[in-house]
Amino acid sequence: MTVRMVMLGRQGSGKGTQCARVAARFGIVHVSTGDMLRSAVRQSTPVGRAVKEIIDQGGLVDDELMASLVQGRLGEDDTRTSGWVLDGFPRTLGQALSLDRITEVRPVNCVINLDVPKDVVLARLTVRREAEQRTDDSPEAVARRLELYETQTAPLIEHYERAGKLHVVDGVGSMEEVFDRLCRAITDATGISA
Ligand code: AMP
Repeated sequence: MTVRMVMLGRQGSGKGTQCARVAARFGIVHVSTGDMLRSAVRQSTPVGRAVKEIIDQGGLVDDELMASLVQGRLGEDDTRTSGWVLDGFPRTLGQALSLDRITEVRPVNCVINLDVPKDVVLARLTVRREAEQRTDDSPEAVARRLELYETQTAPLIEHYERAGKLHVVDGVGSMEEVFDRLCRAITDATGISA
């Protein structure tokens, strides 16, 4: 039995950091589609060249390309053996339906919505921009990503709620507090202890 989970949450919700910690604690693989794409851009692969501009503008990469990237990654030995946490995918209903197909044999057993209100993430993102100088953290790109989250990604919450898989975790608090809440929610959902 492995943890196979999806972490939803606005940009700036602390999702990436918490996914890395969850992965270490549960011995599963952290699959971040944003990291995969940024690495493709750095290496200037065909995928990287195709997506660079979209990422810099805070837009969404095509569903089919994303689904094939994720399908490939979840078919590798480490993810198959140890389980995984998906960070940044799915981001649209189409991607969620693809994920349902990709994981038909070994379904997702936990979906978490790491809930942080919009005004709180905006404040955090300003700090991150100053600290990391990411090229896709311009105010315009940030605004676009947050808007796309509301229109494209929020409907997924309903999809997973209907499937009876959704757990909402309050993402406001210290990193430790939020991490403890996440670990408890994962264990409740999967029966697997950290
Ligand atoms: P992230 O690090 O998850 O914020 O992703 C950075 C950027 O990569 C996003 O703003 C999108 O341009 C792109 N991206 C990452 N994951 C996806 C996805 N599932 N669907 C479409 N675009 C994505």
